[in-house]
Amino acid sequence: MDKEKGLKIFETTGALLHGHFLLTSGLHSPQYFQCAKVLQYPRYAELLCGDIIKNVKNDRIDCVISPAVGGIIVGQECARLLGCRSVFAERENGVMKLRRGFEIDHEEQVLVVEDVVTTGGSVTEVIELVRGIGATVVGIGCIVDRSNGKKLFEEPMYSVFQMNVITHEPDKCPLCKDGVPAMKPGSRSTQ
Ligand code: ZN
Repeated sequence: MDKEKGLKIFETTGALLHGHFLLTSGLHSPQYFQCAKVLQYPRYAELLCGDIIKNVKNDRIDCVISPAVGGIIVGQECARLLGCRSVFAERENGVMKLRRGFEIDHEEQVLVVEDVVTTGGSVTEVIELVRGIGATVVGIGCIVDRSNGKKLFEEPMYSVFQMNVITHEPDKCPLCKDGVPAMKPGSRSTQ
């Protein structure tokens, strides 16, 4: 997908905010990205997930799986476009599991999807869950790759966008130095 067109969608939906943000990690950033803001519009979900599906090269996908909560809409839309099932994994006592009666058969070929991949932690846990069943992970798809170019998985990953994360240590933050008011994302209109 055209990067400029995508950025425009993110900005007009308020998914990508520019300013001075205090992240939960304690770092400061000039950007804040909240994928749910763009996925609240089904037509954008269709557009973005359509791009994932188009680029995942596999002739057979039986099931799409995503980590809850962020990946669920992406999983549902990708499965709708593929005409297959969508399940999601969620943590129970810290362990990623299939609940709610969801099942994956060991003969199935499975696509793992997520909204935003940063460290890849949740996706890795979902991959291990699928492998543990004996099923095959055919690839990973995500809307935004914020890994700053790291190769996180053995399987091929396709992302609609790569968006590097710019962060500053609080004591070295140029925005603090300039006196730009800082805000906590999620504490008001950003979430
Ligand atoms: Zn700052």
